Amino acid sequence: MSPHLLSVDSLNRDSVNHLLRVAAQMEPIAQRRQVTRVLEGAVLGNLFFEASTRTRVSFHTAFCRLGGSVCDTTGFTFSSMAKGESLYDTSRVMSGYCDAIVMRHPDQGSVAEFAAATHVPVINGGDGPGEHPSQALLDIYTIDKEFQRLGKSFGGAHILLTGDLKYGRTVHSLIKLLSLYDPLRITLVSPPGLEMPTALIDLVTSRGHQVEVRDHLATDFSDLDVVYTTRIQKERFTEEMNENFQGISDDFIVNKVFLDQRCSESTIVMHPLPRDSRPGANDLNVDLNGDPRLAIFRQTDNGIAMRMAIFATLLHVDSLIEKDLRSVRWFVPSQTGTLDR
Ligand code: ASP
Repeated sequence: MSPHLLSVDSLNRDSVNHLLRVAAQMEPIAQRRQVTRVLEGAVLGNLFFEASTRTRVSFHTAFCRLGGSVCDTTGFTFSSMAKGESLYDTSRVMSGYCDAIVMRHPDQGSVAEFAAATHVPVINGGDGPGEHPSQALLDIYTIDKEFQRLGKSFGGAHILLTGDLKYGRTVHSLIKLLSLYDPLRITLVSPPGLEMPTALIDLVTSRGHQVEVRDHLATDFSDLDVVYTTRIQKERFTEEMNENFQGISDDFIVNKVFLDQRCSESTIVMHPLPRDSRPGANDLNVDLNGDPRLAIFRQTDNGIAMRMAIFATLLHVDSLIEKDLRSVRWFVPSQTGTLDR
């Protein structure tokens, strides 16, 4: 694997499989049954220049659970970038303080520019509408686990990506990772103007996958294995788009009616979160809460194990985990993480 994780382009089937195996080994630690100190003494720089809850906190938690410690900075206001410092200078400085860096930034390509100036591993926590590789890895890990539970496999699976496919960096990374698998059926549904970039569709098709674009969700999806829906990324709209955007019509809503009437008992529902719960946003509907097909909170739990696997692999301690485990000493409830699993 490359020294950084900037894009899923640096991964192949072997490196993805390796990360899936290491993530599975991390589960007892992520579920707070065991502890390890393999990263004792190491310091993570967690630099977030865009809003984040899950990615920032789960990277932080993952590093701590491996025995390391974390220093972070959130937003431009409290960093020297507000004083005009360049990515190059910030990168050089942070490399003297930290052993690994996670960065999120609103500009596409900025995390790669930052990584070019440092010798410590850098993980892209989201660069504008570009990529979000760790999210795509935890998504693949989730699909793999859900398929194992349901007795399904990737080969020939039918996966629907819907929502904002133009600006959604999670679906950009995910569709590229999916393209490494045996031929799949991928269906794309997005509101007008928010279509998946053509270059990504061409890439996936050239790798032997069947890609179908549909105009709305009001069609038959009874053979669907996964619906992966995303938030409309209004913060990335141009002024003109913002003025003309009419909102999301009922034809694009993933809710209980869609799942019950169009899909099947074994269709799982995923979303990178956050879901926009404001009135009129028409994001993934809360009427699916408690439905076993809703995998979104299993997905967020899986993020810890996968992010631990990424750190352990980039910092070359992945082979030490098994030898460095002991039981926790504090009280842990019989079930950690989400209540409705
Ligand atoms: N949390 C994801 C991201 O940072 C998805 C989203 O914001 O809608 O890309």
